[in-house]
Amino acid sequence: MRTNQQEFDRAQQVLVGGVNSAVRAFRAVGGTPRFIDRAEGAYLWDVEGTRYIDYLGSWGPMIVGHSHPAVVERVRASAARGLSYGAPNVMETELAERISTLFSHVERLRFTSSGTEAAMSALRLARGATGRTKILKFEGCYHGTADSLLVKAGSGALAFGQPSSAGVPEDLARHTLIAQFNDLASVQALFAAHPGQIACVMVEPAAGNMNLILPEPGFLEGLRTVCSSDGALLIFDEVMTGFRVALGGMQQVSGVTPDLTAFGKVIGGGMPVGAIGGPASVMDMMAPLGPVYQAGTLSGNPIAMAAGLATLELISAPGFYETVSARLARLVAGLREAAQAEGVTFSAQSLGTMAGMYMMATPPRSYAQVMTQDVERFKRFYHRMLEAGVYFPPSPVEAFFFSSVHGDEEIDFTLDCARKAFKGL
Ligand SMILES: *Cc1c(COP(=O)(O)O)cnc(C)c1O
Repeated sequence: MRTNQQEFDRAQQVLVGGVNSAVRAFRAVGGTPRFIDRAEGAYLWDVEGTRYIDYLGSWGPMIVGHSHPAVVERVRASAARGLSYGAPNVMETELAERISTLFSHVERLRFTSSGTEAAMSALRLARGATGRTKILKFEGCYHGTADSLLVKAGSGALAFGQPSSAGVPEDLARHTLIAQFNDLASVQALFAAHPGQIACVMVEPAAGNMNLILPEPGFLEGLRTVCSSDGALLIFDEVMTGFRVALGGMQQVSGVTPDLTAFGKVIGGGMPVGAIGGPASVMDMMAPLGPVYQAGTLSGNPIAMAAGLATLELISAPGFYETVSARLARLVAGLREAAQAEGVTFSAQSLGTMAGMYMMATPPRSYAQVMTQDVERFKRFYHRMLEAGVYFPPSPVEAFFFSSVHGDEEIDFTLDCARKAFKGL
């Protein structure tokens, strides 16, 4: 048997940093990434045979747990009929019909192979549809790795965007305007400075990539008003929140309807997927009907569609979200109590089937606030929990994820571990 460390050493010889997605390298928490051998239900097993309760859920998609028999069976049956056709299949239509029923503004969809592609294509569509160049996003919101979206604020809320990655030309980044989440005035100021020039506002309607940050009352409504009066499109990036916070995503929770929505994660049931949805009047600007080009070899491939359809059927069961949300709320309340008993400054909250925990007294409302938490304390907590067999996302600025197969046994075990981990933290 090889250890995680041996596998990590070996991987680093051929994979950049030993990984294929940067955050998997554990840089934010230190230590050795676990190399996963298999996953089932609420659990992961690493190559050393150690079992973990999984609160990563592959960063969101695994809402019915790993290897759910209904999902695996659907994928198996689909695989036997071919892995990819590069030609239309009926499951694409079926999955689109289901999503369209749940999201009122979605008349047309286009599937992609990742959330990154969905956000990137939504951006191009917004620019093509409005004939405008500038876009507005929020500091700390993540929309995948398209150049224009890998931009966050430098100093000063109203500055032009600075690239947060090497390789993004400043000529491109300067078209990305940065506002502050939960700060409508920062948005209004940018619209006042660039009237009629902003193609779209893209937002995670509940932010899940700077840990979980909830929109305050009026924030999303305010974005809707500003966009409508200026003629900019409002794009909700629901790659993470869609089918997570509720069956109808944050638009169901908030009652605010965007112009376009980006989907991903849960709609692929663990297979690579993304989608853009919106009214026909905007979506039909896309090729082959319109001038905005968009395509993908594996887009809408039968395996991803099969996994997505099976997952959506499971989560559409009556009471699914009520049950899973209530269990997660019990876990979150238990974590808060455990921290309080040991006098550790800590807060936690959940929304539907996703949650956030913070080494600070109250949940943050902005990127600036979440960055003030005690990161060293999080790292200690993280490793104590991992050693005890509980796998949270390896970063203090990530949300964590729950599933329908996380039951009382898993919650109680997690809380036992947490009570010990908070001691002397
Ligand atoms: C994960 C995520 C993306 C990117 O999706 P990928 O499938 O990783 O490319 C985009 N937006 C949000 C909000 C996400 O959480």
